[in-house]
Amino acid sequence: MPTTFNQDFKTPTYSGKVAFNTGVYINGEFRDGSDSTTIDIINPTTGRVLTKISEATAKDVDIAVEAAQKAFETSWGLKCPGAQRSILLNRLADLMEKNHDELAAIEAIDVGKTFNWAKNADVASSIACIRYYAGWADKITGQVIETTEAKLTYTRHEPIGVVGHIIPWNFPLLIMCWKLGPALATGNTIVLKPSEVAPLSPIRMCELIAEAGFPPGVVNVVTGYGNTVGNAISMHESIEKISFTGSTVVGRKVMEAAAKSNLKNVTLELGGKGPNIIFNDADLDQAVNWAAFGVFWSAGQVCCSGSRIFVQDGIYDKFLEKLTEKVKAINAGDPFGDTIWHGPQVSEGHYKRIMEYIQSGKDDGAKVHIGGERIGTEGFFIEPTVFTETTPEMRIVKDEIFGPVAVLIKFSDEQDVIRQANDTVYGLSAAVFTTNLNRAIETAHQIKAGMTFINCTNSPESNVPFGGFKQSGVGRELGEYALQHYTNVKAVHVNLGISMSI
Ligand code: NAD
Repeated sequence: MPTTFNQDFKTPTYSGKVAFNTGVYINGEFRDGSDSTTIDIINPTTGRVLTKISEATAKDVDIAVEAAQKAFETSWGLKCPGAQRSILLNRLADLMEKNHDELAAIEAIDVGKTFNWAKNADVASSIACIRYYAGWADKITGQVIETTEAKLTYTRHEPIGVVGHIIPWNFPLLIMCWKLGPALATGNTIVLKPSEVAPLSPIRMCELIAEAGFPPGVVNVVTGYGNTVGNAISMHESIEKISFTGSTVVGRKVMEAAAKSNLKNVTLELGGKGPNIIFNDADLDQAVNWAAFGVFWSAGQVCCSGSRIFVQDGIYDKFLEKLTEKVKAINAGDPFGDTIWHGPQVSEGHYKRIMEYIQSGKDDGAKVHIGGERIGTEGFFIEPTVFTETTPEMRIVKDEIFGPVAVLIKFSDEQDVIRQANDTVYGLSAAVFTTNLNRAIETAHQIKAGMTFINCTNSPESNVPFGGFKQSGVGRELGEYALQHYTNVKAVHVNLGISMSI
């Protein structure tokens, strides 16, 4: 039987309990995976094993899908009025609020997020997202479409059925909520796979989901590896919709599996290499602050990271000087410290990958202006790093590093910077800094990205669509747009008196 992790914390920012089950959650119960194997969960701050969780298999995915199908047919889907789904989602948000600090502490021990940011950003936004979609649950409506007097024609937005969710490690709770919210509001049941690297907040959420009163089988969480559990979800013949967030490489595999199996409908939220364009007339201090936040927040493990910072020649030297001061002032250390801003990278594997990128930048002839080294000897900490003197073909300029690594690029010509900003296979997010409103809007419109922030970075909202152009994704999360991905539109044609004679 799965065990429970239960530990008391007394830290500068959090004093309290962290307790969660370690099992696979199917049909309202925690159980071992069918092979009774486990996965070690490592605390990235120490590099030591924190706990073990149950490892699910493809067989467990089958069992979870069966439970989700049964729940869809008997107690959810069209069997549960939208108003009731709304009540349950609001109750879940209430319970998340009640356990707000504990959820933040889980993100701190599992992902290495600083407690304060996890509390005020990740958990707060997750609650807001669930509440936002609670508001939608009784407003999912079709249309009556006028054709002729002899016909009544209308549409229904019906839930799809069992949907698959595969999520990454960088925002486990938030991305889980971005997917649960619209899927549950529209009446679908769910089989969700968290990342094997950071699955703890999704596991803890199962208990809150049960406590809120969701019928068993509505949400199932199968913890395991991508090539087994993730692949089984992507290939499953009874899952008709999948929403994946993760790397472009794996997103491609998910889409291939969906095409090879039952042509399931696919939403993909993938990687990015965001340009951040700072013009001569920008508010310099604010541009520096937002740029540093944009690339170093959450140790750079953010898909919307503004990791390519383009600075116009008139302010380049001053910007670099101020950014350097800012980077020097970033306090790294234990995520529970009250003045800590910069935690560890999520895992040893990811730490090594980032350090290899830093080495490749040095080998290719770029200059490490600041940072570039490991911090300390314990855990997976890397200094916030700024490269200058780069060229467009360098890997540090082209690839998503997904770590605290920025490249600073000087530009003079407005059209040329837009060409450089768009010179990437990605198109997730971008930012523009200028006090000239026309320039801001013209630039925002010319950038090929799903989101462009003007005079800010990295600040999505629950009610605004989120997603990418090009190889950054397919479809949108958040806002009203996300609802479209979770319903089948049925047109009903009612004959009110047209006679047929053949
Ligand atoms: P990843 O692609 O390695 O893994 C994501 C998930 O896919 C994990 O749960 C993993 O177990 C699973 N997986 C792995 N192989 C699979 C397979 N063959 N079939 C099905 N599932 C499989 O990504 P990651 O390292 O967890 O997260 C980092 C990436 O996520 C970055 O590229 C980042 O940009 C991206 N991301 C994108 C967004 C967005 O909204 N666009 C948000 C967060 C993260």
